[in-house]
Amino acid sequence: MRIPATSRAFVVDGTGKGAIQEIPIPKTGPDDVLIRMEGIYGCAGGDTIVYSGKHPHSLGKYPLILGHEGVGVVAAIGAEAARRRGLKAGDRVAVEVMIPCDTNGPEACEQCRAGEYQLCEKNQQHGVSMPLSLEHGLWGMYSDFLMVHPRAITHRFPENVDMANAVATAFLANAVRWTEVKGKVQKGEVVAIFGPGPQGVGGAAVATYRGAVPVLIGLSTDQARFDIAVGIGVVKADHIIRADKEDVVERIKSLTNGKGCHLAIECSGADPAVGPWLKVLRKRGRGVICGYHGGREITVPIDQIATKELNIQGAWGQAGGWQLAIEMLGRQVFDFAPMITNRYRIDQLNEVVPTLKDPSRITMKALFVPLPL
Ligand SMILES: [Zn+2]
Ligand SMILES: [Zn+2]
Repeated sequence: MRIPATSRAFVVDGTGKGAIQEIPIPKTGPDDVLIRMEGIYGCAGGDTIVYSGKHPHSLGKYPLILGHEGVGVVAAIGAEAARRRGLKAGDRVAVEVMIPCDTNGPEACEQCRAGEYQLCEKNQQHGVSMPLSLEHGLWGMYSDFLMVHPRAITHRFPENVDMANAVATAFLANAVRWTEVKGKVQKGEVVAIFGPGPQGVGGAAVATYRGAVPVLIGLSTDQARFDIAVGIGVVKADHIIRADKEDVVERIKSLTNGKGCHLAIECSGADPAVGPWLKVLRKRGRGVICGYHGGREITVPIDQIATKELNIQGAWGQAGGWQLAIEMLGRQVFDFAPMITNRYRIDQLNEVVPTLKDPSRITMKALFVPLPL
């Protein structure tokens, strides 16, 4: 691949605007990987707050290149990086957003030393907290090219996984973490999933793949999302619950001989979902919460936890989720291409980022492609 002298990248300054800038591409050193970006999902949670300057990890790091949910192809790779990562030029890869700090070295934080890099104290993240002023600055994914940080984690896709499916790891690796790593989903279990967005659809996919029965819960306004989930085949049409029209707890009871479900996942971030999330669980049920409720303090039916001896577990990030996500994509269990409901180029980001959180504009996921070379 011919590598140009500069990469056109979408640079933000934290004031709610950005611009395409030409950033010089450095020579690829022995431990470097240069990725030609192919497709980047808009991240409703992350991109919008980095763009507007409200992400705590971005403070003091502007200007920076935005974008962290992308896949691309190895354009150039140094010998040491190729050996260490098992990659070669032409491989389609995903790059994890979270960059572990010094892992086992003297500078490693307590979390990374314990292998829990999703909670790293140093908060280094591609496209979130890596400034243009740090080395070459090519750390964000809304760009022709991304330079992979030497400590960042890369994942190679099997050749049969196309870009439209590869990019689905952005939510599927999360979903594996909520549903399997933390939720310990088992064959035959009923899994209630609150929130029919990408995270919920991903959770339903993992549950179905593991032989469990997902029930997807949202509102009647989520109909387009329900249709996509049913169309992909991750959930049955009669296992959809519209919480504004039906009693969620009663419906789950009717599906589980009155006992309640084994596993309930709250990934909606909607405050009214939290009470039912606890109430649908059976005795000794497992509740996983990964939905972010915007720092609000809310009232919950707390006695549910003690009286049913519930196991409540928080979940964050994608650690431990990539292997199974890529296995599912390689086996082509589901075709996730219909998750892409809106397509743009990276020079349209200024108009689109403010709408990423609005399901009436972005039905499921927005995909951005770089400018043609
Ligand atoms: Zn994200
Ligand atoms: Zn760390």
